[in-house]
Amino acid sequence: MAALRAAAAQATMRFGKKPPHADYRTLRFRTYLGTLPAPPAAYDVLATRVYPRLGVTNAAELFPMDGNLDYGDCTIAAAAHAGTTFCGMVGERKIMPEAAVTALYLQLGNNQDEGLVELDVLNYWRKSGIGGETIFAFAKIDHKNHEHVKQAICTFGGVYLGFQVQENCQADFKAGKTWVPGPLTEDGHAVFATAYDAAGVTVLTWGNTQRATWDWWDDCVDEANAVLPQQADDPAFAPGFALDDLRRDLAGVASDAVQDGTAAASAPSRRKYRYTCPAGPAPIDVTDAVYDAAREVIVQPMAAATSAVENTLIVECREGHYCSYRMPPDRDADGPPANDAVEQIGAPLGTKAAADWDALRAFADPVKGIERVDKFTMFLWGGGATLATVAAGFGASSGMTWSHAGRWTFAVAVALMGLSMTCALLAMTPIWKIVNPNSPDLIRAAITTTQRYRRSWLIPSVLCFALALVVASLVQLANQRSAPPSISPSVSPRSGPGATRPADSTKSGRT
Ligand SMILES: [Zn+2]
Repeated sequence: MAALRAAAAQATMRFGKKPPHADYRTLRFRTYLGTLPAPPAAYDVLATRVYPRLGVTNAAELFPMDGNLDYGDCTIAAAAHAGTTFCGMVGERKIMPEAAVTALYLQLGNNQDEGLVELDVLNYWRKSGIGGETIFAFAKIDHKNHEHVKQAICTFGGVYLGFQVQENCQADFKAGKTWVPGPLTEDGHAVFATAYDAAGVTVLTWGNTQRATWDWWDDCVDEANAVLPQQADDPAFAPGFALDDLRRDLAGVASDAVQDGTAAASAPSRRKYRYTCPAGPAPIDVTDAVYDAAREVIVQPMAAATSAVENTLIVECREGHYCSYRMPPDRDADGPPANDAVEQIGAPLGTKAAADWDALRAFADPVKGIERVDKFTMFLWGGGATLATVAAGFGASSGMTWSHAGRWTFAVAVALMGLSMTCALLAMTPIWKIVNPNSPDLIRAAITTTQRYRRSWLIPSVLCFALALVVASLVQLANQRSAPPSISPSVSPRSGPGATRPADSTKSGRT
């Protein structure tokens, strides 16, 4: 250890933590405090859990410099140290090779040695793994709260933190002196904290441990995260602690909280609920499918305005298999997530119910919707042609002698027929309505709206059609009754059916 400090004394160590990045989706450590025991007054993960299991007595043996003399790779080195700690807690000796640390550092920095953002490293750690191991989740700690920091160290074996570097940082490290507050530089450094007591914390850095006071912590630390590693699977990792529940919650949140901007809309509610299909060889998590549907309702202004937030969502969990999920009433509430995360187990639909659902859902099928519009267009052309034919048919009965009353009756019949056709067209018009395709409630509501709308136009359409037929049958009668006046060409109607008047008057003028 002394040798390493001596070696380090010759060189200048590098810093390489960029200023903190915030992401509102990152889960909060405090959310899960309800399930955490109170921390002891002092705790040392290495002394109590790692060293005894690995038969090691000093930090230098397990936590190398990791290239931090040549590169500003402290963010990766700290993660590597955390990985070694997690493995050591379950009795496994694992040290990430220095070459792997620096290679990953350069990879994440696009081959630029300019330092990294801790949040980026944590996200990469969770998705792709560091030192061959991914983590389940990470949770942001309110670093001003010492109790939370202590609880995180006790529960998770350490805290991955970043601080703004004080002027005497390197000098004190080389001299083996405790870090205390001092004028701040513009550098940032990442370390992994593994112990605390009343006086301060112990962190791993530059191939060794380093003490620091709580005053230093308050002055310099600008970000801290609890990391939940895969080792949590091992019962030896956190004995007596209900880690399964917490891990499941954290994993559920993390999958939502730190994905690449895909789930922002539904992030608050997904902290509370997970949706699991119980059928099949193994239960599967269908939270994404549920929230894909839910998000569609939330973000579409039209559907949101109806405030008809559905109570049930039906999701296709597997090929041709549906499960129904009760949606919590507060699922789009924006409040802080509760501790009582609830697992919603799906109720598989029976064969009959699934068939019904298929039929119902066809209504909200966008492809079917386009087909309906196409059919309507055809119908529109057909309807227009029919109307033209009807009108032409009336007008073409040239053998008839037209009287004033006859022309009027004819005009009314055509108008009524036109009105009927128009009402029919309106009734058949497809309604553009945004419907959550997974919500039976919203689909039924949309169908009801459509039916009501359709009925409100079909009834006048039918009445007008019937009236048009009646009036049309009167045309002949009207012509016969008022036959004498029609003989006299001098009687010119003040107004009449415009389209036929000029032709008719010429005709009557000739006779
Ligand atoms: Zn299912």
